[in-house]
Amino acid sequence: MSTQGIAERRVSRRVMVGTVAIGGGAPIVVQSMTNTDTVDAEATAAQVLALWRAGSELVRITVNSPEAAAQVATIRARLDAQGCTVPLVGDFHYNGHKLLTQFPDCAQALAKYRINPGNVGRGAKRDEQFATMIECALRYDRPVRIGVNWGSLDPTLLARLMDENAAQSDPLDAQAVMREAVIRSALDSARQAEAWGLPAERIVISCKMSQVQDLVAVYRALATRCDYALHLGLTEAGMGSKGIVASTAALAVLLQEGIGDTIRVSLTPEPGGDRAREVQVAQEILQSMGLRAFTPMVSACPGCGRTTSSTFQELADRIQGYLRAQMPQWRGLYPGVETMRVAVMGCVVNGPGESKHADIGISLPGTNEVPVAPVYVDGEKTVTLKGERIAEEFQALVEDYVRRRYGAQPGAPAAPEKTTAGISIKAAS
Ligand code: SF4
Repeated sequence: MSTQGIAERRVSRRVMVGTVAIGGGAPIVVQSMTNTDTVDAEATAAQVLALWRAGSELVRITVNSPEAAAQVATIRARLDAQGCTVPLVGDFHYNGHKLLTQFPDCAQALAKYRINPGNVGRGAKRDEQFATMIECALRYDRPVRIGVNWGSLDPTLLARLMDENAAQSDPLDAQAVMREAVIRSALDSARQAEAWGLPAERIVISCKMSQVQDLVAVYRALATRCDYALHLGLTEAGMGSKGIVASTAALAVLLQEGIGDTIRVSLTPEPGGDRAREVQVAQEILQSMGLRAFTPMVSACPGCGRTTSSTFQELADRIQGYLRAQMPQWRGLYPGVETMRVAVMGCVVNGPGESKHADIGISLPGTNEVPVAPVYVDGEKTVTLKGERIAEEFQALVEDYVRRRYGAQPGAPAAPEKTTAGISIKAAS
């Protein structure tokens, strides 16, 4: 896959979370988090399963009470029984030191512990409780994520850095000090964990901010000041398009600079919305940048006054849905199919050109055009569809193309790697 234009990946330590590698040149990992009550093992296992099926390679669950900790091993067992191998990450705040020691089954069932240095305790207890969590990581041979969140930044550290800054002859502004406090909280905690014996290869760092420019500035600094694996994510990104756009804006800048080993897109679901949407968005960020490929994507024009019916929108939606639905099966049967490009275009202006650039594409008739739809395969016009069943016939052609192009053929070379960069919604002409 071509990543021309993207900076070399930052060199980081490789951290194994169960069987999943983060950093050290491994593919950028997509992760997500449940929003069920962990006490409800059935609902939590079902949501983990759904996130995993959507493509989440790690799933984090809240472990916030003894009742929740008591269910973690059951959740793991339920997943194992369904063939779901996704590593579980435990999210701990305030009482993680107690839960990890009092519930060894929970500590054992989790593949990684997330520790928020701002929420492990205050004063003298802070070090003691943090040390207990690191001891558990050592005892169970688990990695940790030192996950700073600016909303729960250690107030003692921030106050100290503010005081030190005020004493300078040329003090920084408050925002710069806050950013530095976030970075210091992560790096100081990670180095403390190392001093207690946890290898750097078992430490992932995150510093989540809610503003795009803060996030970019903090991660650029982190990238130069350490070689820990980095988890990227904009916190409190928000709902709907706002959350998607803000997350994409922040993550794309950093990924373009080679920064980031695992990502999570923190979307607030609409009431009753699908939690797996955050997984799809994370995948689409990586795929549209040419960093990974997960599922064939459909290029579709936005439509304009030349398309007064919704035919091409419906076809684009139908084909995209069809491709997604096939992927669990196709992934094993047709290696490389995830990089396939399909075009569904609305009229003759850009339709043939875009369709020729896709692996398979269709140019539908615009208003007042002859009601026929030429299909292009590998750049060549192959057939012209017409009538009421254009959608069904095009879907059958896509399926046939996948079988021929990506199906196992004895002695045939593997399908060539292709860039996925540039797969996008084409701008109106
Ligand atoms: S290809 Fe361009 S001109 Fe034709 S319908 Fe799509 S947006 Fe409009």
